[in-house]
Amino acid sequence: MRVFITGVAGFIGSHLAERLISQGHLVFGIDNLSSGKESNIPCRFLRYDCRNKSALRFAINEIKPDYIYHLAATVGVKRVLDNPKECIENNIESTRNILEFGIPGIFASTSEVYGKTDKILSEDAPLIYSSKSRWSYAASKLIGEYLVQQTNGWKSVRFFNVVGPRQSGSYGAVMPTFVKQALDNQQLTVYGNGKQVRTFIDVRDCAEILDMLMMKEFDVVNIGGNNILSINDLASNVLEAIGRDYGQILLPRQARIENIAYHKVYTDGFEECLYRVPDLNKLQSLLPVMPMTSLSKTILDLAAHIKKEENTNEQVRQHGSDVQRSETPIPRLTRAAVR
Ligand code: UDP
Repeated sequence: MRVFITGVAGFIGSHLAERLISQGHLVFGIDNLSSGKESNIPCRFLRYDCRNKSALRFAINEIKPDYIYHLAATVGVKRVLDNPKECIENNIESTRNILEFGIPGIFASTSEVYGKTDKILSEDAPLIYSSKSRWSYAASKLIGEYLVQQTNGWKSVRFFNVVGPRQSGSYGAVMPTFVKQALDNQQLTVYGNGKQVRTFIDVRDCAEILDMLMMKEFDVVNIGGNNILSINDLASNVLEAIGRDYGQILLPRQARIENIAYHKVYTDGFEECLYRVPDLNKLQSLLPVMPMTSLSKTILDLAAHIKKEENTNEQVRQHGSDVQRSETPIPRLTRAAVR
């Protein structure tokens, strides 16, 4: 199959591209590199924004994909709070554009659409919002889901805390933040009392699930892990795994964790979701088997990735851009290349 991925340089997009290539698909992508990295991309790609209709049309006409994964979006609570207008416009317009081509696909939505909940979340659970701009990301994704409902051959997936190698801590995600802090022997910054609950799914499991869902019939489905953890539990798991593998001195747990009040981290208007756990029955009914990478493997693979990136950055600092140039060049998408 010829598959087109929007947001291919991103954390999930790049793993999805790798997975699909390994399954024998021909994969192409588009990314504006606003938060993704060119070095993540394992396939041909165009550097364009999905709001650029003529670039999208060019790509789709040249590639003639059989299937589209639409992952490109402004993501991350921090980024969205910094610029809600940009997030709303980008997410809605990109989705509207990509749905116009009459090619089937999967739209990446988010568990954020459920809003401020305290129950296990099945796909038909009520969505609980306020009009605070903290929820603008959720609302923009929800509109995407409504557009998808009106488009033949399209379906939505709602991601719950996808984690793993290549995830950046720059936009506030907890796992890369904790792993980096543990590697640097710094205190782990737990927001609030740390009793808020999440589940975590490894990005490679998520990519495998996205691949398997391509041929399935559904409207919307949750994608998440089944390990229910408080953020305090996550901090302990990170300290244990990194302590064991990187030989960090295991200080008493209390000495390794710093509790930070929410108002010191987020701007006014932030509302925390204290309990976010997916009901995975629908996903399990669609898939014969569920991949399940252990949390400690995810933590250690993410740590290895962070270390590798730090080494590359250090080499670039010492030896200039030659180091980067010696890496395999990323093939750009041109008219000739897609034929
Ligand atoms: N969090 C934390 N310390 C950090 C970053 C995040 O305690 O350095 C908390 C955050 O308040 C939330 C949880 O970890 O309760 C998950 O945060 P993330 O941004 O990764 O995902 P989301 O809030 O979207 O579930």
